Amino acid sequence: MRKEENMKGIAFAVAGCAMLLLATVGAAPSFNAQQQTLGEKCRCVAFRLDDIQDYYLQGTQIRLMDEFERRNLPLTVGVIGNYFGQDEKIVSFVKEGVAAGRLEVANHGWNHERFTLYSQTEQSDLMAKTNEKLNNILGFRPLIFIAPYNAVNDKTFAAAKDNAILYVSANMTFDKPPYNNKRDDGLWHYPETAETGDLSSDGARWLGYDHEKTMSEIKRGIDENGFAVVTMHPMEFALRDGLSFHDKLDEKQMQELDMLLKSINEQGYEITTLGDLAWRSESV
Ligand SMILES: [Zn+2]
Repeated sequence: MRKEENMKGIAFAVAGCAMLLLATVGAAPSFNAQQQTLGEKCRCVAFRLDDIQDYYLQGTQIRLMDEFERRNLPLTVGVIGNYFGQDEKIVSFVKEGVAAGRLEVANHGWNHERFTLYSQTEQSDLMAKTNEKLNNILGFRPLIFIAPYNAVNDKTFAAAKDNAILYVSANMTFDKPPYNNKRDDGLWHYPETAETGDLSSDGARWLGYDHEKTMSEIKRGIDENGFAVVTMHPMEFALRDGLSFHDKLDEKQMQELDMLLKSINEQGYEITTLGDLAWRSESV
């Protein structure tokens, strides 16, 4: 029953992404409280893994988080509050990643809502519910909000401020520049600038991008804004038939990820968390 509810949730998410894709190109980032490093400036790339939730493509979610952990690379995960907490495997993996300092947790809505449909008070309440739940499970309130469907407006930013959130990640269509500096609204804005996959433009298939395409988007983000945020979904790394997903790894897409991570390294870029972008990336 719960699984079906989650499947329904993700199907809704996919349909929403399709609509979004017609209107936009773009995306965003995230962060945990304590571990900020005031290091040298870098040309930084943050990876954001959206849609972390119980009992959905469980092996694929864990495999992706583990891939970053095995390489000793940080990763920011967007957790859907109301879908998280029951699945012992997912919850313990996230807890361990946080404790090891490699996973940064972001608020990704309560039921993966399109926040722009709600008033500021409603948006604030939805963010608060997820932050409270994650505080109960993980022991801290996330400082990052990754907007479901990348949809944000000024009320979202005010709601984020209400919830002591510091970083908002949407996309460059919904959240216009400037980026990379704290704005008058008191937030850092780090939209998605690249993706490893997305829904096809006709909404019929979930595409996995090759590493050259993602790498060129990363380079453009760094050249134009001084940072890059790469959005990943478990869906492009799962075997799939149209929009029917199986919890088995798409090995070809994992090879693309391997080549992408190597290219980033060869280019001299550094991978950080979304929250660390504020301290590490160069303003342009
Ligand atoms: Zn999402």
